[in-house]
Amino acid sequence: MSFNQNKILITGGAGFLGSHLTEKLLSQGNDVLVVDNFFTGTKQNLAHLLGNTNLEVIRHDVTLPLYVEVNQIYNLACPASPVHYQFDPVQTTKTSVHGAINMLGLAKRTRARILQASTSEVYGDPEVHPQPESYWGKVNPIGIRSCYDEGKRCAETLFFDYHRQHQTDIKVVRIFNTYGPRMHPNDGRVVSNFIVQALQDKDITIYGDGSQTRSFCYVDDLIDAMIKTMNSEKGFTGPVNIGNPDEFTMLQLAEMVLKLSNSKSKIIYQPLPSDDPKQRQPNIDLAKTKLGWRPKVNLEDGLKETIAYFKRMI
Ligand code: NAD
Ligand code: UDP
Repeated sequence: MSFNQNKILITGGAGFLGSHLTEKLLSQGNDVLVVDNFFTGTKQNLAHLLGNTNLEVIRHDVTLPLYVEVNQIYNLACPASPVHYQFDPVQTTKTSVHGAINMLGLAKRTRARILQASTSEVYGDPEVHPQPESYWGKVNPIGIRSCYDEGKRCAETLFFDYHRQHQTDIKVVRIFNTYGPRMHPNDGRVVSNFIVQALQDKDITIYGDGSQTRSFCYVDDLIDAMIKTMNSEKGFTGPVNIGNPDEFTMLQLAEMVLKLSNSKSKIIYQPLPSDDPKQRQPNIDLAKTKLGWRPKVNLEDGLKETIAYFKRMI
């Protein structure tokens, strides 16, 4: 590492978003340290980067303290799909809360700038639509999604308290549903589920009547916004929504996946999981003005890339 090179820590760097972020930051000439416990991430996600001498990978759980010297931290460690975060809900809350405390402690000691990968789930099942950052959300504190939603909300609280109390240089991004290559084929998220089902001519499982909405952002757009946020002016803490405001019902998504993959699958309807948000769409005015960012990839183009990836994979 040269003395003017950024030394960047990415927790959760072996996961879906983390591996794309690692790839992008390495391509910009940075020195990257990935820390991951490989709960949902895989070494395979980083395999194509392992020959790069600017990359270092450590198996470590962020619920335990970590002593390294870095000047930027992206805190992404946390399972993101409902199936995975509900597998061991206590560990999910610990990962968000203890993980935030440990990484903020590291940022405080090293004076590193730290970015938290928060989520649109902090808005819960929203009564305000689309959701601006000023909306405080409607979250069930005791439901099956709470380990994730409340864990992420508490992490945001910790970020802002470290900022106020210790002047820690923080950035908080609220990520809306993001999809693309390297999503885990079995993680239960809707885009990967529908594509894998369509490619295998299995039934497409819509939960509920398919009228609930989500707004899907392609991974390249998301990574671009994350890096822009990290490098934004000092004093701009966020929270800032990042996502693609184009909103679709799950039925529209299923039909688009069927068409783009030339699938013979048929749509079936299954019960809606509890606390499943009815609608979700980011207001991205703040990202537009503060970051000069807007998403470029529309859902159809992003799905084509993602379908091509899953075709190679399965
Ligand atoms: P992912 O499950 O693919 O990645 C999470 C990574 O964190 C994995 O590599 C996993 O092994 C690692 N991890 C989990 N617990 C850990 C622990 N205790 N210690 C160390 N590593 C641990 O999920 P993703 O989609 O890449 O999400 C990355 C981050 O972005 C998460 O914090 C998630 O909450 C946030 N986010 C993602 C989305 C999305 O649509 N993908 C939306 C909102 C927020
Ligand atoms: N969903 C669905 N079929 C599936 C998987 C998910 O209809 O096979 C629905 C789910 O109920 C939710 C939406 O798709 O309304 C998005 O689910 P996902 O788990 O991808 O993300 P989140 O609910 O966290 O936004």
